[in-house]
Amino acid sequence: GVIVAVLTCFATLIRAQSGGEGSTETFRYESDISRLRSLVIHSIYSHKEVFLRELLSNANDALEKLRLTALTDRTVMSAGEGNVTIEVNLDEGSAGKTGKIIIRDTGIGMNKDELTRNLGIIARSGTGEFLKKAEEGKGVDGNLIGQFGLGFYSCFLVSPTVRVSSLPPATSSNPNPIQYTFVSSATGDSFEIYPDPRGNTLGRGTEIVLTIEEDQGEFLSVNKLKDLIEKHSTFSTTFPIYIKERKT
Ligand code: ADP
Ligand code: MG
Repeated sequence: GVIVAVLTCFATLIRAQSGGEGSTETFRYESDISRLRSLVIHSIYSHKEVFLRELLSNANDALEKLRLTALTDRTVMSAGEGNVTIEVNLDEGSAGKTGKIIIRDTGIGMNKDELTRNLGIIARSGTGEFLKKAEEGKGVDGNLIGQFGLGFYSCFLVSPTVRVSSLPPATSSNPNPIQYTFVSSATGDSFEIYPDPRGNTLGRGTEIVLTIEEDQGEFLSVNKLKDLIEKHSTFSTTFPIYIKERKT
């Protein structure tokens, strides 16, 4: 099964400054995605926890893709490099009830165009059918999500604002990649993309920062996250998942 290591450390997270840069670009969500998001956000159901499964399965996919790419392009990963992991960082914040869940992988990452297309523009193949079923009055419940795999958008089930920063590995065709950040709120029909003001801090891979408010405070618990990972771990036995708790 998935390896879950629980480490406790006390550290201050580096916080990204929000957008506001001259180079920030604002994009409008494709209409299907706006519909999907609003359905999800306005549905009340008890399966919000699928967000973790979806984000971890994406992290796992990204690590698989890295491994595949490394077979043909040795630039992306030095031989014998063991840095293929998934981290779930829990930042409880000072209030204790609000905080952040940060999911970090050292996988294939996304460049600026991929962030824009994969997270904002191209509707997933199942989306049309998902919307049809949901709008037929069945509502968006956990089964529907399980059936279609809501994917990335499930993070808006628990987080009103989501920030994704990503840095692809250097390749022979792109030796100097730049880390970009995608920011979106659960409401509204647009998202922003800008060069990460922190620079290329990730080394390689993707970091997803979920803002957890009091109403979803149950997820701000290492034990809860650990249970969820074990419950939904069928998708992956490949890469280790580490849970770290940070108190600021
Ligand atoms: P699916 O996983 O079914 O393709 P998702 O909505 O879960 O759909 O994700 C959409 C796309 O965003 C993925 O196909 C992938 O290209 C990209 N993506 C999401 N998360 C990551 C990640 N952690 N690393 C790299 N790419 C990612
Ligand atoms: Mg997915």
